[in-house]
Amino acid sequence: MKIAIYPGSFDPITLGHLDIICRAADLFDKVYVCVMVNCEKSHPMFTPQQRLEQIRRSVAHLGNVEAELWSGLLADYAREKGASCLVKGLRSATDFDQEYQMAAINRGLWEQLETVFLPASPAYQHFSSTMAREMIRYGQPLERYVPEPVARELEKK
Ligand code: ADP
Repeated sequence: MKIAIYPGSFDPITLGHLDIICRAADLFDKVYVCVMVNCEKSHPMFTPQQRLEQIRRSVAHLGNVEAELWSGLLADYAREKGASCLVKGLRSATDFDQEYQMAAINRGLWEQLETVFLPASPAYQHFSSTMAREMIRYGQPLERYVPEPVARELEKK
């Protein structure tokens, strides 16, 4: 059984994240989306619990995907889940530089832990949670940026 972890802050989950999750779900038997609570950016728009619920609603149609919160080291979470792979989406050379370093750090913590990079789909290459937060602030139509259940919930508020 090949188990993978897709970690991030997901403040909020975007269509770019969901695209990576769907592609990872095709590649692995099981995918855990891990909302990292310890890597809080200074002013998050959503609480970790809200982000978790947004992800759970967005992946409800994917039978082999689960989402959880984690506040420790990612390598410890992977070990606990029996996961041999981290999945990272790459939008740019900047993402690559950062993620290449993180992959080495994670392998330093646990040698069996590989990182698999998936290139962002062209349609979502410019998507980020920062961009989604701006669209929420300025009342833009959200279904173009975030998964449909999240857009519906936010537009109701
Ligand atoms: P962001 O960088 O948007 O704040 P996160 O820190 O939650 O998002 O990122 C989690 C993971 O998702 C990282 O591996 C990041 O490179 C990847 N990612 C973010 N946005 C996209 C996208 N539009 N397409 C592919 N991967 C993405």
